[in-house]
Amino acid sequence: MTNITDLGIAAIRDGVAKGEFTAAEVATAFNAAVEAAQPALNAFIVTTPEKALEAAAKVDADRAAGKPLGKMAGVPIGMKDLFATKGTQTTAASKILKGFKPEYESTVSQKLWDAGAGMLGKLNLDQFAMGSSNETSAFGNVISPWRRKVEGGPNDTAPLAPGGSSGGSSAAVAARMAPAATGTDTGGSIRQPAAFTGISGIKPTYGRCSRWGVVAFASSLDQAGAMAHDVTDCAIMLEAMAGFDPKDSTSLNMPVPEWTAGLNADMRGKRVGIPREYRLDGMDPDVAKSWDDGIAWLKDAGAEIVEISLPHTKYALPTYYIIAPAEASSNLARYDGVRYGLRDLPDGAGLQDMYAATRAAGFGPEVKRRIMIGTYVLSAGFYDAYYTQAQKVRTLIARDFTNAFMDVDVILVPTAPSSAFALGEKSADPLEMYLNDVFSVPASLAGMPAMSVPAGVDRNGLPLGLQVIGKAFDEQGVLNASLALEQRAQFSARPEKWW
Ligand code: GLN
Repeated sequence: MTNITDLGIAAIRDGVAKGEFTAAEVATAFNAAVEAAQPALNAFIVTTPEKALEAAAKVDADRAAGKPLGKMAGVPIGMKDLFATKGTQTTAASKILKGFKPEYESTVSQKLWDAGAGMLGKLNLDQFAMGSSNETSAFGNVISPWRRKVEGGPNDTAPLAPGGSSGGSSAAVAARMAPAATGTDTGGSIRQPAAFTGISGIKPTYGRCSRWGVVAFASSLDQAGAMAHDVTDCAIMLEAMAGFDPKDSTSLNMPVPEWTAGLNADMRGKRVGIPREYRLDGMDPDVAKSWDDGIAWLKDAGAEIVEISLPHTKYALPTYYIIAPAEASSNLARYDGVRYGLRDLPDGAGLQDMYAATRAAGFGPEVKRRIMIGTYVLSAGFYDAYYTQAQKVRTLIARDFTNAFMDVDVILVPTAPSSAFALGEKSADPLEMYLNDVFSVPASLAGMPAMSVPAGVDRNGLPLGLQVIGKAFDEQGVLNASLALEQRAQFSARPEKWW
């Protein structure tokens, strides 16, 4: 029999339902995998083996009693440490929330537990989800399970970034510490780490998954989603996570479609847009080739390929890096030493001093940088020049997509401009790091669903992702095109186990 830890969501759920193994056996196997890999990869901030076992025992008891089983019954998952979990430390990877144990459960995590999933632990991430490499966590870097292969020489053992901000999620799934994990995506944080680690990840339409109980970064962009082995597993998990929530005022009041039942890789009659503005000068040749492969695969699946224009693409990155920090500076004002986590109260200090000391000690450098940028662009003298202007450009970017989708069903682009980079390679220069988000932020600004699927490996044997962007509410179209890619990419590369 294959190892239980090699199985994904569908295989585990079906195996448990058929009695091929118990949910307890599954939880035990993944708990062991977490324990074995955690020292090397640091994918988790806290592990909760007892929670995984507790959920499994309930599923096994329900099955024995002949009760109906949920969509995720018997599947232990990793939970990004941005989701509030009742009684379990929730930190957003920041010192300012160290020790914070919420009194409530986020809607998305509750839905997953209700569907029969169990929690292996809280996954590491970039601090407050700000970053593309997981190097801004206050709990240490996550190390990607992948390493560069060097043709004809000894392999490169330099630790690589698992992507960010959902780097604990991507590393845990790629290293088979968890069959699936939650992620959140504000400007690419599900898609880029999925691409860096050879797994699949979907960010649904803005509003599909409730933001209630998710630590806020940039509220008009934040969206939860699924990270798993393949398209089918992502569809199953997203069905369990999505749904209207009156506690989130931007939640979509629409029924959740049966995406899994609707999966269909036949692209005949579908039009796929290839935006010319994404062909950057000096594009990595391996990334360009994988994009061409994707185009050929969708053609092979029956789609018609159409060149399109998204003329405001070049403004997406600067627009994002104004809007996201602006919202962050406002959202993060709540961490003041009064209500949550850390309090730094120097001797004889007054209230203002406490705020300042707490925030100085609690926030990491990238978070401080964003708060300062955000405060600056929202300040009286610069508001119109930066923030209002960025909002206008955001509208133009969204309009580009609306126009394009009058002509095409989905858009195909690379997920990221490169494969995984080494830790430390980009962290000294924030702009260099921000540039890694160039292909992922446009769909975020427009609120469109988008998915990354593994497409192949580059010259160093590292995974590359292809991104499918769809119309608002058309996760089905995104999943279907992604499935067509998956079937043709036949991606089977796995990191060599060194941990
Ligand atoms: N890398 C982007 C940023 O640093 C996106 C982060 C995210 O999607 N949470 O803001």
